[in-house]
Amino acid sequence: MKVLIVGAGPAGIFTALELIAQKSDAEITIVEQGNAIDRRACPKAKTGKCMNCKPYCHITTGFSGAGAFSDGKLSLSEEVGGDLPELAGYQTVRELIGYTDKMYLSFGADPHVEGLNNDEAVKEIRRNAIKAGLKLVDCPIRHLGTENAHKLYYKIQKYLLENGVTILFNTTCVDLTFDGDVCTGGLFVPSVGGEKFTLNADKVVVATGRKGADWLDEQCRAHGIDHEAGVVDIGVRVEVRNEIMEKVNNVLYESKLIGYPLPFCNKVRTFCQNPGGFVAQENYDNNLAVVNGHSFKNIKSDNTNLAILCSHKFTHPFNQPIEYARKVGELTNMLGDGHIMVQRFGDILQGKRTWQDELQRSNIVPTLPDAVAGDITSAMPYRTMVSIIEFIKAMDVVVPGFAGDETLLYSPEIKFYSNRVKLGKDFATSKKNLYCLGDSSGWTRGLMMSSVMGVMMARNLCNNNKD
Ligand SMILES: Cc1cc2nc3c(=O)[nH]c(=O)nc-3n(C[C@H](O)[C@H](O)[C@H](O)COP(=O)(O)OP(=O)(O)OC[C@H]3O[C@@H](n4cnc5c(N)ncnc54)[C@H](O)[C@@H]3O)c2cc1C
Repeated sequence: MKVLIVGAGPAGIFTALELIAQKSDAEITIVEQGNAIDRRACPKAKTGKCMNCKPYCHITTGFSGAGAFSDGKLSLSEEVGGDLPELAGYQTVRELIGYTDKMYLSFGADPHVEGLNNDEAVKEIRRNAIKAGLKLVDCPIRHLGTENAHKLYYKIQKYLLENGVTILFNTTCVDLTFDGDVCTGGLFVPSVGGEKFTLNADKVVVATGRKGADWLDEQCRAHGIDHEAGVVDIGVRVEVRNEIMEKVNNVLYESKLIGYPLPFCNKVRTFCQNPGGFVAQENYDNNLAVVNGHSFKNIKSDNTNLAILCSHKFTHPFNQPIEYARKVGELTNMLGDGHIMVQRFGDILQGKRTWQDELQRSNIVPTLPDAVAGDITSAMPYRTMVSIIEFIKAMDVVVPGFAGDETLLYSPEIKFYSNRVKLGKDFATSKKNLYCLGDSSGWTRGLMMSSVMGVMMARNLCNNNKD
């Protein structure tokens, strides 16, 4: 059986790892748009500012995908990281988180898990969350740290190569190929330019991540692959001093809080909390600059950052959430002259922009130095902005000081996983021999869940092969 995996993010590489673990006879080829992990480097570490790398951003592209430079927080709960349990069952996903976590440990993940014990302190945080109308989700975290994530994924890359997996780096899938309703492979081109070529396979697994979600959406439209518009998450990255978040950081490491603030009742949630972390910029191929955050295991800042995301769903007559979010992002980038914009919460409430010199007067020093002070409210939809403001005020009940005047809000923070591919239980699409998984499928949104989906994919392929 020839298996072609498009995208070497956690979803793609855990598919390959589990095929090997299951001793399958699959001939595995992974095609990855970016570099091998040992050749991935973001120049910002040297230049201090985003260089808008072409043909791709090294933060999101290359072996281990968005995982390489990510904070490496493995969420060990089926309640976090997307909707895979709805497709595959809560019990199954819970068990496979345990299994996949052991795989991470075998490649050198830190055995320590954050967010266990501290029962009394957790109870108090939950009491305050209830007072504020927020739900606190329990989620133990295994923290790899950005620098360790790199080392761990390097070991996995080496293991895959040593076990006979072919990995074509710097190669982009531009089109999927079909014979009638059967997917036969893909059309590829070297990412730096060159001749197009075709690769054929018995099974084609698409795992192109958030950055490839747009491309997959186009493929679904072009080839009639069943899909639907999912939600799109638009929000801000909030940054406060560590002193403000100290209690939550110590007790939970990451607070997963969800609310439905009035008057719109959209779902608003916290995501990707980084104690002592750094706000980061990532660039998409279409020049869109969006904000993110990460933290190192050994280098700590004085600040904690986390995303606050507001979910939007569209029905009729408009149902292109990716397009909607992109327009919001582009407008924000335009006002920030191509940079990430930052504004103080107090200024937002007073209806004024933030000026660069005003940032210097605060206790908090932005950890994204090339962010431009401005007015994020001029680009943020009213519904989104009001929901975020109300959520921040509710958070203040759980974390006193969170809604302080000098709290920083960076924008745009957008999660592009809104195209949801319709999948069967074995992750098969409506086209024979074509499978989708990970963040690009719209079913996951995180390292652990996309890795688990990869493990399940491999087992499904082995089972299908036996039938
Ligand atoms: C800065 C940052 C911090 C993060 N921190 C965390 C965290 O702490 N915890 C957590 O759980 N999650 C975190 N995430 C999210 C996490 O990294 C993703 O959810 C996860 O990597 C998704 O895995 P994936 O395999 O589905 O996709 P990806 O990791 O995005 O991988 C997809 C791969 O496909 C490749 N590709 C795309 N299109 C094509 C194409 N046409 N042809 C060939 N290859 C293609 C890409 O280059 C990429 O390497 C973070 C993300 C970022 C950007």
